[in-house]
Amino acid sequence: MNKLSPAAPRIAIANLTLGYEGHPAVHHLSGEMPAGSMTAVVGPNGSGKSTLLKGIVGLLKPIHGHIEIDGLGGNAISYLPQQANIDRTFPISVEETASLGLWSRCGTFGGVSRPERERVARAISAVGLEGFEQRTLDTLSGGQVQRVLFARVLVQDSPLILLDEPFNAIDANTAGDLMNLIERWHKERRTVVAVMHDLDLARDRFPNALLLAREKIAWGETCDVITPANLLKARNMSECWDDDAPWCEREAV
Ligand code: ADP
Ligand code: MG
Repeated sequence: MNKLSPAAPRIAIANLTLGYEGHPAVHHLSGEMPAGSMTAVVGPNGSGKSTLLKGIVGLLKPIHGHIEIDGLGGNAISYLPQQANIDRTFPISVEETASLGLWSRCGTFGGVSRPERERVARAISAVGLEGFEQRTLDTLSGGQVQRVLFARVLVQDSPLILLDEPFNAIDANTAGDLMNLIERWHKERRTVVAVMHDLDLARDRFPNALLLAREKIAWGETCDVITPANLLKARNMSECWDDDAPWCEREAV
């Protein structure tokens, strides 16, 4: 980071309920992602993981409670949505896509300065796409497109990085390379939050985890969070939302 801040952002969540048109998707969540922490958000499908990220980035207003982010210092949050909704048939080049990371940094639409061009070139090289600068996205594989989006995050240089299932539908090589980049961001004391589908990878590489099933099942050190007992609890709770489920343990209490 250019201006490496000693205090990375901290996310404090208090009694947070998020949802759509008044229907809650995340219920009464409280806890924090400490400054410089690296957290995997895990849970069954539909458990509110993407909703939580949208809440943190500010795309969704809380129904109840609040989210506070300290130490962002005026920087924009880097956010990679699930299945990034970029139009891959749009003829935009690798270099242009990575350069989009500059806009949120300086907010200028003017010419790109030489140091900025060099930043973009370094980012493209760091994700292993040197030589692909002028290629358009429609000529790339899914894994290569994800590399470009990580280059954009590198260019953005934010102290807070939110990634929603970054390794979905990409090859193992790319996932390995991008996982290394995430660890590098963590070593640089950025605060990283990633929704992870692969529980083994979350367990091996993320110090902290939040297990969601619309509400908090467990949150803290990954080894205490991703346990067979907690996963079973999350699965049972997610079955409760199924209209066809034969019974609901929680409502029976
Ligand atoms: P996850 O990412 O854990 O799979 P989501 O956060 O995407 O789960 O979704 C949580 C719940 O919110 C689901 O029941 C889903 O159907 C609902 N939901 C998600 N997005 C919307 C939306 N745009 N409008 C209405 N409901 C939504
Ligand atoms: Mg999701």
